[in-house]
Amino acid sequence: MTFEDSDPIGEFDVIRRFFTPSKASPSQGQFSENPVLLGIGDDCALINSPPSGEVYAITSDMLVADRHFFKDANPTLLGHKCLAVNLSDLAAMGAKPVAYNLSIALPAIDIPWLEQFSHGLHTIADFHGCTLIGGDTTAGPLTIAITAFGIVNPKQALRRNGAQVGDDIWLSHTVGDARLVLGFRRGEWNMQLPWQELAHRMDAPTPRIDLGLGLRGIASSAIDVSDGLLGDLRHILHASKVSANIWIDDIPCSPLLREVSLELRRLCTLKGGDDYELCFTAPQKHRSLVQTLSEHLHLPLTRIGEVTEITPEHPNMTLLDHDGVPLPVDLAKQYIRSFDHFK
Ligand code: ADP
Ligand code: MG
Repeated sequence: MTFEDSDPIGEFDVIRRFFTPSKASPSQGQFSENPVLLGIGDDCALINSPPSGEVYAITSDMLVADRHFFKDANPTLLGHKCLAVNLSDLAAMGAKPVAYNLSIALPAIDIPWLEQFSHGLHTIADFHGCTLIGGDTTAGPLTIAITAFGIVNPKQALRRNGAQVGDDIWLSHTVGDARLVLGFRRGEWNMQLPWQELAHRMDAPTPRIDLGLGLRGIASSAIDVSDGLLGDLRHILHASKVSANIWIDDIPCSPLLREVSLELRRLCTLKGGDDYELCFTAPQKHRSLVQTLSEHLHLPLTRIGEVTEITPEHPNMTLLDHDGVPLPVDLAKQYIRSFDHFK
């Protein structure tokens, strides 16, 4: 308890009014009964054991005002995004969302802000059948920390360490728009583009849950692109002890990003963060399965490279331009470095 009891509206009112889902939205999944035995209101939530053969996949992501989003960000979209980025991690593991915890620090109790924020949050949660089961509410600089729980068969979980030499490297949809929008908002560039149209790629990412589920048994490894495509891909290569050739100018991007200079396009597609697409590897023999999945989900999936052996000449990934010529090592290094909060 951190607010005075005499306050017109306090911590517990906020929890009751905005963070207690109006209806349970249990992930039907393979659970024969509601996975949530006890939700918000007690000292802990209680959740049932996962169905036989499955385990819980658990992930946390924190969004801090003025670091991950602008303080004046649209609250509905922020509510959407803070859960979307967590669901994206479940997707990258091939897990099905079940429940989540929300810990939030609020500078003040702003009712219209809370109404919109909780609307955005509950809408995406309901869409994915992911139930809010608890959390913490405190006064402080605006910070939103979510822990999401999903279920997955551990034998099918899409880990980072499964990439094999010869596998294809795939990417869902397009990357780069979020970085393009961020740069515009920060004043790094200001060319004429339909910014309104592009904004949703940064503000309202789509977690690729169905893709993650569909890739179980097909992909050898996967990661969601949150800190920049090449930097995130490097995590797969490192965990799998392999290298890669990447056809950097074939990386799918929006038609708008095709109109900007090659240098800016490369920066946004290769190094830009906040895309929340899935980058995954799969054996070549699964190409037609990947293509069928792409058609089934109406989601473009593009081959962007191949997994190679680490050799003394090629210790890191090789970035090939549109003529198949490798980029100079120093330039490549700049694109491969991923976002780091402390660097
Ligand atoms: P405690 O003091 O035991 O930590 P709290 O007073 O913080 O309990 O929370 C009361 C109940 O409300 C708990 O069940 C907790 O999980 C839930 N809760 C608190 N904040 C949130 C929130 N932001 N979203 C969802 N549930 C919340
Ligand atoms: Mg508490």
